[in-house]
Amino acid sequence: MPQHKLTLSTSLDRRKHNFWPWLWGGIALIITAIAVYALCRNNEYDRISEAEPISMAELGMQEWSDLEALTRQSLDNDLFDDLPDTIPDETNTNTDPFLIKGKISRNQTLFVALKNHGLDVADIHQVITAMQDVVDFKRTKPGDTYEVHLDVDKRILKFVYQISPEDISIAERKDNAFVAHKVDMHKKTERIFVRGLLTNSLYQSFRELGESGELASHFMQLFKYDIDFASDSQRGDEFSVLVDKVTLNGNFYKYGRVWAATYTSGARGKHLEAYYYDTDEEYSGYYDATGHALKRTFLKTPVVGCPVSSPYNPKRMHPILKRVRPHNGIDWACPTGTPIMAFADGTVTFAGWKGGNGNLLVIEHAHGYTSIYAHIYAFPRNIKPGVHVKQGQVVAMVGNTGISTGPHLHFGVKINGKYVDPALINTQYSYALTGNRLHAFTQSRDKYRLAMTDKPAAEQTAKAK
Ligand SMILES: [Zn+2]
Repeated sequence: MPQHKLTLSTSLDRRKHNFWPWLWGGIALIITAIAVYALCRNNEYDRISEAEPISMAELGMQEWSDLEALTRQSLDNDLFDDLPDTIPDETNTNTDPFLIKGKISRNQTLFVALKNHGLDVADIHQVITAMQDVVDFKRTKPGDTYEVHLDVDKRILKFVYQISPEDISIAERKDNAFVAHKVDMHKKTERIFVRGLLTNSLYQSFRELGESGELASHFMQLFKYDIDFASDSQRGDEFSVLVDKVTLNGNFYKYGRVWAATYTSGARGKHLEAYYYDTDEEYSGYYDATGHALKRTFLKTPVVGCPVSSPYNPKRMHPILKRVRPHNGIDWACPTGTPIMAFADGTVTFAGWKGGNGNLLVIEHAHGYTSIYAHIYAFPRNIKPGVHVKQGQVVAMVGNTGISTGPHLHFGVKINGKYVDPALINTQYSYALTGNRLHAFTQSRDKYRLAMTDKPAAEQTAKAK
């Protein structure tokens, strides 16, 4: 700017000899300076200058579609106003002309939902009246599913209403009326122990042991502060988990609490242990073998199960421009729709479109930390500037918006306004148990350890080979 002032004062000295060229030159300079300043300000996060993404095959992502299904499953769809069109609605895949499957949408009553299928209004009334004996329709909510079985004249034969897999009611036509009953559900919780060796991926390894990929997801969540499974795990690593498994009428329903888990990577000399300390609210949670809380101030990664496609590199030479254009963040290749979690507790300061970043999210944390998430597909409805978020809370979905050649998360961290390598952020222990608490924890840890050396585990391991 000093040269700029100099130009103006010179122009004033000579104004009587050569007034117009100097005036226009001065104005042009001022406009240029303002434009450059504005551009720099606007592009605070624009200097992402993404690297060429690595192909899925190179990243060894065989589990792509599985992972996509899994991450969707763990996502509360109701948080999002508009889901990507690519997410299939499984209720529309039915081709049986005598069967209608549907889902109650927001602001829709069951009556309207059924009427929209062109069903006989008198039938609908009869079904709903009969169902009122077993279903509390005040408790029903968007997302509840139903099935209508029809005869050749499109009259209702049977109606099934599901509030949850545990709460299913059926109304059936008997002569000219409908009779409703609740389906008897036998819920059983069993504590199981699973141990195995990593084959291709954690998902696949758990499935080879007869467990669902959902358990792999729980497992990864547990150690998310200590290991990035997408890049730090390898074939032959050993895992074990003690978990409650819930069945409904003998069929797998869901997993309950994970009580203990271990992960050992021989090649990397890494051994991780997690034990659930079941006590009062404040201290209950997962601890390592020495009583240090697994939860840290910062997550290891804001996305789970995605490989790094481009690391942080402040001295990166731009392949086209042939000069230093820093990559001031980490890129993770994830399918569109993968949930992004808040890196730490904090306050949203920006959530919206920002040039080459596409949809951008910025969260401010304590101690001068800021986390930045770019190329987002969609934000949950409640994510907007000023909103407080908790660590691990789903704050966005991975997308491919802005200047981006494939779905990925660009993630940056600033400390007091300066970019730092997110991979090097100190993941301090939150706290450690002491005194009586540590004593009680140690006792329960030993109880879990004993349960994990039980015989069924050996059988599980044998089955894995
Ligand atoms: Zn990037």
